[in-house]
Amino acid sequence: MAEKMNNNSEIKGIRLSGKREIKSVNYADDVTLTLRDAHSVNLAIDTVDRFQMASGLKLNKQKTQGLRTKNSFPEILLPDIKWHHENFNLLGTKIGKINLNQIWQEIDGKIKSVINEIDSTYATLDAKEVLIKARLLPVSNYAAQTYPAPTEKIKKINERIVRYAVGKYEHADINTLQLPKLDGGLNFPNFEIYADIIYIRSILKYCQARVQNEPLNVHTTYIEYQIGHAIADVLEVVRLNNIPHTETRSPYYETIMQIINKYNLKRNDLIERKIKKTYERIIQTKKLKAISDLGKIWERTHLKILPSYLRTFNYKCAWNLLPFCNETGNYTPASKNSCPFCKVGPDAAYHVFFKCPQTNKQWKQTIKDAEELLQINLQNENVESLCQLMYNNDRHPNKDQLLTTLITATKHQIWKTRLKCVIDNQAFSLNKLRKDVNKACNSRITTIRRDHPNIMTNE
Ligand SMILES: [Zn+2]
Repeated sequence: MAEKMNNNSEIKGIRLSGKREIKSVNYADDVTLTLRDAHSVNLAIDTVDRFQMASGLKLNKQKTQGLRTKNSFPEILLPDIKWHHENFNLLGTKIGKINLNQIWQEIDGKIKSVINEIDSTYATLDAKEVLIKARLLPVSNYAAQTYPAPTEKIKKINERIVRYAVGKYEHADINTLQLPKLDGGLNFPNFEIYADIIYIRSILKYCQARVQNEPLNVHTTYIEYQIGHAIADVLEVVRLNNIPHTETRSPYYETIMQIINKYNLKRNDLIERKIKKTYERIIQTKKLKAISDLGKIWERTHLKILPSYLRTFNYKCAWNLLPFCNETGNYTPASKNSCPFCKVGPDAAYHVFFKCPQTNKQWKQTIKDAEELLQINLQNENVESLCQLMYNNDRHPNKDQLLTTLITATKHQIWKTRLKCVIDNQAFSLNKLRKDVNKACNSRITTIRRDHPNIMTNE
């Protein structure tokens, strides 16, 4: 059917890029005709009618809609289907004259209602990270790749998501939370960057196709016709032909250039084509700023000899992100709000890690083990000052790293034991904690002996 239309020179389609004339765009059982005048539309419908008779398939005229973009002929000449003059929905995307603010207002409303729904469930920061990606980002995905997001609207949505993510964790630093896990963050999405990158996805594809000398599809042909030449000049992307170019550039050209400039995207970023890579590259530039603001704390909490789960743990400790009942709440049942070890003190980081008489017994053991292993004297340190040491310890670089490892491993086992008591209702046993800490510390030291032998021997 499409071939029949393409071969009929009386049916006039829309000419793109001077080479191809597009008369129809077909997705399985959904056909979109893109025609120039009433005569072409009538001939095309005739072709469809004849195809129906031959094949037994049937066009549902009730569901058929059209968009008129010119008024140079009376509507009576057009077939009897529903005609729109401003815009209409094509496969879920509004085509024609559209109101961006209104579209994004609707998306913001949907995001708000999903947040209301998911915010009523208990969720850790890690769970929220997954929920944001699984429930919130898809809400805007479809629209974001078609319509540029107005700055004010995107700011509002971003704030909404950030508030959902860290609202109860007032110490959280969103800039570092947005870093990839490998870089010590929690991989929280930055909605603004995300929406921008999704929007310029077709530009990434266009640049790639141009550089690889791949044939352009309808979408990339449209870009070439509308903005390709200008983009090609700015980004030094190859121009392969001298296609007649539209005199008035797409209104989105400015938006696209703004996005490219805003994130300082270079030619290579664009020809990589992958959204994820481009997103990560932008986040990396944010990382440098976020981390340089933090100075040594970042370096110490993300000590290179620590495995990534302990770095994440240190990160959460440093930013008070661990969900204790008496602090960040809304995670464990409200009835359980006393320390699961001594049953007297509060279930709060300061008590559980430093003040609890039960964990103090463990710390005495850890200090003794550390003194033996590192040949240092720690008797004058109390547990709290010892834990603080790891942020500003400058005595012996190697010994400090090992000490930090032992402290972190102990603290992490205390946290794991607390979770078992609070979440799984297990009874607390100091002996079990001792065994777990011992095992964790030994395993860390063995790994360091193997991977970083100079740290074990040097002073
Ligand atoms: Zn306690």
